[in-house]
Amino acid sequence: MKKLILMALALVGLAAASAQPQIERPRLVVGIVIDQMRWDYLYTYNEMWRNDGGIRRLLDGGYSCGNTMIDYLPTFTACGHSCVYTGTTPAFNGIVGNTMVVHGKAITSVNDTTVTGVGTTTDKGLASPRNMLVTTLGDQLKLGTNMKAKVVGVSLKDRAAILPAGHGADGAFWYDDKVPAFITSTYYMDKLPRWVEKFNKDNKATMKKYDLWNNRNGVTMTFDMAAAAIDGEQLGQDEVPDLLAVSISTTDYVGHAWSTRSLQLDSIYDQLDIDLARFFNVLDQKVGKGNYLLFLTADHGGTHNYKYMTEHRMPSETFGNSGAKKLVSEAVKNKFGVTEVIKGTMSYNWFLNNEAIAAAGADREAVKKEIIDMLEHDDRIAWVIDFEHPYDRAIPREVVDRAVKGYYPARCGELYLIPNIGVYSGSHDGKGSTHGTWNQSDTHIPLVFYGWHVPHGERVERNGMTDIAATVAAMLHIQAPDACIGQPIPFK
Ligand SMILES: [Zn+2]
Repeated sequence: MKKLILMALALVGLAAASAQPQIERPRLVVGIVIDQMRWDYLYTYNEMWRNDGGIRRLLDGGYSCGNTMIDYLPTFTACGHSCVYTGTTPAFNGIVGNTMVVHGKAITSVNDTTVTGVGTTTDKGLASPRNMLVTTLGDQLKLGTNMKAKVVGVSLKDRAAILPAGHGADGAFWYDDKVPAFITSTYYMDKLPRWVEKFNKDNKATMKKYDLWNNRNGVTMTFDMAAAAIDGEQLGQDEVPDLLAVSISTTDYVGHAWSTRSLQLDSIYDQLDIDLARFFNVLDQKVGKGNYLLFLTADHGGTHNYKYMTEHRMPSETFGNSGAKKLVSEAVKNKFGVTEVIKGTMSYNWFLNNEAIAAAGADREAVKKEIIDMLEHDDRIAWVIDFEHPYDRAIPREVVDRAVKGYYPARCGELYLIPNIGVYSGSHDGKGSTHGTWNQSDTHIPLVFYGWHVPHGERVERNGMTDIAATVAAMLHIQAPDACIGQPIPFK
């Protein structure tokens, strides 16, 4: 009898369980990163956006978080894409630059020699997300759905497809212009899916004809590939939410080559407006209006061209690492007997040659002080942060906190140069734009949510890039990525 009652109770329990409402979730999450898109492009290109274009649809129907900032240094592509999808900064996720020192060797952010290319025999295929140390939004979506969710990344740039898609992704596809084709690596699969082979075949002529990195066709091709992924991987076709991470690289290449105020860049953003609208229509048809949650953002902004700024009497300067390194090395050699005191530089990050300092029996702290004093006497450098004592000196928290959030000791040098506003490391005095600093130009990014459960509106309160993953995770009722330090953004 007792047994029967228990069984009956169990049945009631089952019935109750089956009567539970489904967790409300979108069918598809679409993340779109526009490489080097400044926040103000949403408005400086106002006259160019079509009434039926993609940007107008986003601004008129979506929710714009108008004061979203990158809270770490340096503001580079690999770091930005990682932060958007991990909700955390290089200090946690380990992606400290486009190239970085891993186990003593300088490699690209996604370089992995344990894998081989699929669809290519060039070294563009030696790539995976293994250098990233934490989970992503896509990883958490997989974990939260018993691995039923599908996660795919698409971009021309390897790092912009791989890092957003995360560790557990079903696939990440990037462009190898040497083939030319979209490729992947054995990290994900041993053979290209048939839909990718077909896409490459169908688009071979365009790929051969145009330099996709620097041409409008690069934008179109990336969105076409994303649309093909929706079909090929059946994304957003059932109740389990999937994730598609798309990144547009051509905007960054043309920005670097021609700058923020060039006709060449205007043309690329004009194409973006057209292709975004087309892509929205694909999503409406394949996934359904209101069934997808989309966000558009950038991995970093970009500064105006050096000549353009100086012609208009605005502060702008260039800073060459190699010249400064030479001066510092000579001075330290003369004073302390240390040869080659700087082992290497990665943009604003300088590596000490600790072996040489020890071999010379020099006082390491005194050597560092000498280097810092010298660099800070350069009119172009505001501060040099010593990562071993970052808070010991009178350097504003806005700057030190950002540098510290970008510091992962095993992959970074001990010193970090903070140039004055408008000063950039490298070849900034040519035709193009650049980025990498904490300036508004580089850190103020667009962030517009659109679609599933997103009201129309705008907020001006400050948000961080780390809030993006936190917001999407909260909306989906999944755990945020493991090292996420952001906060969900409320839609008012
Ligand atoms: Zn970038």
